[in-house]
Amino acid sequence: MKTIYSKNHVLHNSLTELSGGKLVKPYECPERMDHILKEISRRELGSILAPTSQDLNIIYKVHDKQYVKFLESAWSEWTKENFKGEAIPTVWPSRSMNSKNIPNNIEGKLGYYCLANETSISEGTIEGAYESIKVVLTAADMLENENSIFALCRPPGHHASTDQYGGYCFFNNIAIAAEKLLEKGAKKIFILDIDFHHGNGTQEIFYKRSDVFFASIHGNPNDAFPHFLGYKNEKGIHEGLGFNLNYPLPIGTSYAEWTKCLDDSINKVKIFNPDALLISMGVDTFENDPISFFKLKSDDFFDVGRKISHLKIPTLFVMEGGYAIKEIGKNTVNILKGFEE
Ligand SMILES: [Zn+2]
Repeated sequence: MKTIYSKNHVLHNSLTELSGGKLVKPYECPERMDHILKEISRRELGSILAPTSQDLNIIYKVHDKQYVKFLESAWSEWTKENFKGEAIPTVWPSRSMNSKNIPNNIEGKLGYYCLANETSISEGTIEGAYESIKVVLTAADMLENENSIFALCRPPGHHASTDQYGGYCFFNNIAIAAEKLLEKGAKKIFILDIDFHHGNGTQEIFYKRSDVFFASIHGNPNDAFPHFLGYKNEKGIHEGLGFNLNYPLPIGTSYAEWTKCLDDSINKVKIFNPDALLISMGVDTFENDPISFFKLKSDDFFDVGRKISHLKIPTLFVMEGGYAIKEIGKNTVNILKGFEE
C-alpha cells in the first residue's frame, strides 16, 4: 500500500496544550509521524510519496469562507496584540450569550471559531494544516488506480466542523477527500471513524446528507471528549436521516466488545454499497493511550484491517489520532498490514 506524506507537517508545531489546568507539550506532536514512517519502512508497507500540487478551492465545499479567512490571519492578529504565548481562546459565545455575533478582536474571534481550547494556534499552524489537505487530496486522486491508499495526515481533521477548530484539527481532511471523490464521479461515500474520539466535525458536515454515510465507534461522550456530540440518538436530519450512526462505548471497552460495533458498521457499509470507503483511522483506542480509555491491544489492530479488507471496496485510510507515541507506528501499520493480507 502506498503512503502519501508531507514532511512540511512540521510547520505546525505548537509548544503548548492546556491540559488538566496546565500548559503541557501537545499530545499531538510532529514526532508521531517519525514513528509511523519508521515502521512503514521497516515493515516494507510500500512506497512513501510526497503530495502533488492541488486545487485547494475544494476546501470551500466543506468549510465556511470566513472561517478559512480567520484561520489564515489568526496568528498575525494574535501577535499584533503583543500576547506572549500561543493563541488560546479564553471566552466563548456560551449558552447565555449571543452566539451569532462575530467580534472584530482576535480574542473574541478565537472564542467564536474554537470548539475546544486544548488546541493552540502558533506560527505555521495554518501552513501545516494546508499540507494535510494536499496529502489527503493526492491520496484521493490516486485511489482511482489503487485498491487502497494511506493518507498520513497531520494535523488530523475529524473534529474540525464547517466553521470550528479544536481537538487538534483545523480542516476536516477526510470530508474534503469525500468531496473530491464525489466531484470525480463517485455517487456514494461511506466514512467509518474508528478513532477513539467521536468525529464530531465530520458528523456535522454531512448531517443533512444521504450521499455520505457517517459511522463512528468511540468513547461515550458522557465520559469522553468532545462531550457535546456523538450520542446514539443522533441519526441525521432531513435527507440525511438514517445516514449517521454513532456507537458510543463505555470506559474500559475491550476489543471483544469494540469489534461487535465494527462488525455491525461493516454490515451497514455492505447495505449502503458505496463507491469508496474512507476510514478515519485513529489508534488512540490502544490500551496504553494517555488520553483515552479503550483496551485494544497491538495485535487487535491486524484484525481491524483484515475485517475492513473483506468488503473489497476501494479504501482510503486517513490518519487521525493516536498518542501512545512509542507504539503508534506499530499499531497503525498493523491495521494496514492486516488489510493487505
Ligand atoms: Zn482521537
